[in-house]
Amino acid sequence: MSSLEKRLLGKNAFITGAGSGIGRAIALRYAREGANVAINDLKVESAEQTSREVEALGVKSLVLPADVSDSEQVQALVERYFTEWSKLDVLVNNAGIGSTMETVSLMKEATWDRTMNINLRSVFLVSKYFAKQMVKAKVPDDQLRGKIINISSVRGKYGRAHFGAYSASKFGVVSLTQTLALELGKNRITVNALCPGLTLTPIYGNISAENLAKNNAHIALAFKPVGMPEDVAGAAFFLASSDSDWITGQSLLVCGGQHFI
Ligand code: NAP
Repeated sequence: MSSLEKRLLGKNAFITGAGSGIGRAIALRYAREGANVAINDLKVESAEQTSREVEALGVKSLVLPADVSDSEQVQALVERYFTEWSKLDVLVNNAGIGSTMETVSLMKEATWDRTMNINLRSVFLVSKYFAKQMVKAKVPDDQLRGKIINISSVRGKYGRAHFGAYSASKFGVVSLTQTLALELGKNRITVNALCPGLTLTPIYGNISAENLAKNNAHIALAFKPVGMPEDVAGAAFFLASSDSDWITGQSLLVCGGQHFI
């Protein structure tokens, strides 16, 4: 790709949970499009690995390990980000965990709390502390200050048995996306969500696409067994690019026509 075709050249992005799966794929796509990418993950080693892959694509990277459900760690992370880089153009709230597959009546309260903390509270905290800085960015009047992209799920639009905590957390992400879009619109910051369907990532452990599809035979896909992280990264690129400047508060299904119930 020549530098003329790189659509995110000169932009800075920060992605949570980018040491693995969908977050890593978004980081690499953004880097290929010319963006510098700051990488968060719980594990330093996986954040460093993605960061090295990003730098190998010829852009800058920053490793910011932290538990993004912890307020103090998030505040320290944001402070460190702005010590190293002066502006943030694209924030991707991606870190999350999957469903424990229990019914609500058998679910431990600790499971509910952990799921809400990691999948929803993290989006609140990271958006809250980054947005405070993003609104101060000096940009020409006809340009956006930045974009926030939240990774929800098909389960953020359609509930399902055994997905009680997970689905509620992802509905929460969709709702928070709408609220943030309304609150930050006047600051010229757009906020949208992506709702991936079944996507082959380490969230399901070490499983093949065929077996993942077999285990989810109730789900019919339009044209391939399961989605890949790069499918979600393509949509995340669109939401980061200027082609989506007039889109905000939306939650886009990225699921290849997956059936929802
Ligand atoms: P993944 O491969 O497990 O990646 C998630 C990453 O987030 C992991 O590296 C994980 O670290 C990290 N993480 C978890 N808790 C964190 C925390 N508190 N602070 C910082 N990082 C944390 O899973 P994925 O499938 O790519 O999931 C990415 C997002 O997509 C999640 O929000 C998930 O709910 C959503 N999603 C996934 C699918 C799917 O089918 N894969 C479908 C719909 C939505 P550790 O590995 O060290 O825990």
